[in-house]
Amino acid sequence: MIPADQLTQARERSCEMIRQAGVCVHPEQLADIQVVDFGIGELDQIGLQMLVVANTPVLTVKLLMLLPGQTCPQHRHGPFGDSPGKEETFRCVWGELYVMMPGEPTANPHASPPAHRREHFSSWNETVLQPGEQFTSPPDTPHWFQAGPQGAVLWTYETKSTDQADQFDDPDVAEKCGKLVESD
Ligand code: ZN
Repeated sequence: MIPADQLTQARERSCEMIRQAGVCVHPEQLADIQVVDFGIGELDQIGLQMLVVANTPVLTVKLLMLLPGQTCPQHRHGPFGDSPGKEETFRCVWGELYVMMPGEPTANPHASPPAHRREHFSSWNETVLQPGEQFTSPPDTPHWFQAGPQGAVLWTYETKSTDQADQFDDPDVAEKCGKLVESD
């Protein structure tokens, strides 16, 4: 449970970032901004704010607002049914976004997870997204992302949203939000 004052503050900062980003959102929709702390109560470090603008059986579009340095913890969108898992495209609108994927570790990456949770982050290949740039994460691939020092506003375009199939690397997050990554 996020304290009411923190919830209000996160929503207000999100609205301000949306305004700065120049994204047109109807005032009534602003009330639908969801504040997600992944159940671990460290919102300024681990969390995100989102507005779901489309959610159909085939496509989900979200507007994400990340506070400065705020991190979405490492996770993968695993297979379910006859689907290989969710594909996810990040398109930066404002600020700067660091997207971290498996592969050759980037020397001196911009992104840095909270020190006390670092052991739950293993993808260190960094793509830095400036406004207008985008990156697609394939299904079932461990990834995480973090906002730059200003924060970030981004669109995400996802194939059939399957949050219930998400697997998290941090056991504290997995306990509250879904499944722990199954070892390969
Ligand atoms: Zn994801």
